[in-house]
Amino acid sequence: MSARQYTHFIDGRFDASADAHVERKAPATGEIVARFASGQIGDMDRAVAAARAAFDKGPWPSMSGMERAEILNKYADLVRANFDRLVRIEVEEVGKPIRFARGDISGVVGLIRYAASLALQMAGTTYTNLGAGKTAMIMREPVGVVGLITPWNFPALILSQKVPFALAAGCTVVVKPSEFTSGSALELAALATEAGVPAGVFNVVTGKGSVVGQHLTEHPGIDFISFTGSTQVGQTVIEASARNVVKTSMELGGKAANIVFADADLDAAVDGALMGVFFNNGECCVSGSRLFVETSIADEFIKRVAQRSAQLKVGNPFDEDTDIGAMIDEKHFNKVLEFVRSGVDEGATLLTGGAAAKSGSGHFVEATIFDHVAPSMTIFKEEIFGPVLSVTRFDTVDEVIELANSSIYGLSNYVWSKNIDTVLTVTKRLKSGWVQANTIIDGAPQLPLSGVKGSGFGYEMGQAGFEEFTQLKTLFIHTGPRQPVFAR
Ligand code: NDP
Repeated sequence: MSARQYTHFIDGRFDASADAHVERKAPATGEIVARFASGQIGDMDRAVAAARAAFDKGPWPSMSGMERAEILNKYADLVRANFDRLVRIEVEEVGKPIRFARGDISGVVGLIRYAASLALQMAGTTYTNLGAGKTAMIMREPVGVVGLITPWNFPALILSQKVPFALAAGCTVVVKPSEFTSGSALELAALATEAGVPAGVFNVVTGKGSVVGQHLTEHPGIDFISFTGSTQVGQTVIEASARNVVKTSMELGGKAANIVFADADLDAAVDGALMGVFFNNGECCVSGSRLFVETSIADEFIKRVAQRSAQLKVGNPFDEDTDIGAMIDEKHFNKVLEFVRSGVDEGATLLTGGAAAKSGSGHFVEATIFDHVAPSMTIFKEEIFGPVLSVTRFDTVDEVIELANSSIYGLSNYVWSKNIDTVLTVTKRLKSGWVQANTIIDGAPQLPLSGVKGSGFGYEMGQAGFEEFTQLKTLFIHTGPRQPVFAR
């Protein structure tokens, strides 16, 4: 199989050639599967100039919502028509199990269709109750040229939590995908263009975050930066964008609590505990990586979770029955194993896993579970971003709320209980943008995702996510005779 060769996608087409490349080795096999252009500052300047011209000179922002919706729906059709190819790219470049990659690309189609529906609904407000001769219109307009920076764990899906919404609002975009997993971003830009998105509206520059990503965040031609990635890089992006006083939206790290009360449907909660930490190899910002179990059911419940974990299949992500694929690269694989060692060294009880999994030449980690994890331990506090679960027991609602909220993060949390009173009481006290009850890592394009505390700010998806790509302009009009103020 030959590696896919890519160049930047700027102003409606792929560049003819690239001076330097970033090679992507499939994390599951070590084989080179793609070569991306290693972008330089001049490449980013060209992309921002194309996006700026497409926004300032149109026609995209001035098209009717109906026209933009039609093009976005064609784009969704083309993604559907290229489904298998996009799935393959995600499996090869990320190392995620194929059944989850299929879910990602289906999700992309849904996100584009939902965003298309929002293009029809972009509306402001009119006030006619301000007094005689006074009318005010609050107009909703596209925010302008948007710089989008995305991570490697859900390359197509996270891009699509942003780009279709930006396009629906009439914005133009420059995307800097992760240097590991840029294939789907480039393919999606080409498909959108084929669907009728005009040249310059959807640009993708690949390469290193410290070079092209940094330049994008400092660029005076950008009106809004929408970033998804680690809290550490998010802080750098906020600092860089502050120089031009540019609005930002930050979807950052997480360390969710997955809280199981004794009155829960325990079969569902066992599956929820596994899904919470092993979905997408555990490389998931909304992972339920801290499992809290009510003491009265803890021994039996944890035994069931550990038994099932030991049976999970780790290995070739193209196998239909694989549960956990490869870690994104060797560095991350070593970091995950380092966290596992810290769990052992700091006194947690290793129930299952805890080592590299043997499968070909890739970087695989066994499904790993630690019991009796104390709040002072590193694995309790830090985002591991791998298949490693920490389990802590609790006796009261107050105790588990304090433990859950002790994290520096506040992206998502989960509650399992059949008692609606418990679900609502706990939900109201959890400090996170997202809470799910009796389900986990579920969602729909209509539902906004947002973080609090170290998990960031701003919304993605839903009406609120769409509005991030808009701004308001207030027009105050006076009609008829106006009472003079100075010229009396
Ligand atoms: P990083 O923060 O390392 O990278 C994210 C993106 O930022 C990449 O495209 C990266 O490029 C780029 N980047 C790196 N340095 C800079 C810079 N100085 N200026 C501008 N851009 C830069 O995150 P990962 O890709 O490792 O993703 C994992 C992290 O993302 C986890 O913390 C996870 O929780 C978080 N995440 C959050 C989500 C949410 O919705 N809240 C969803 C998914 C992930 P390059 O790849 O070239 O370095």
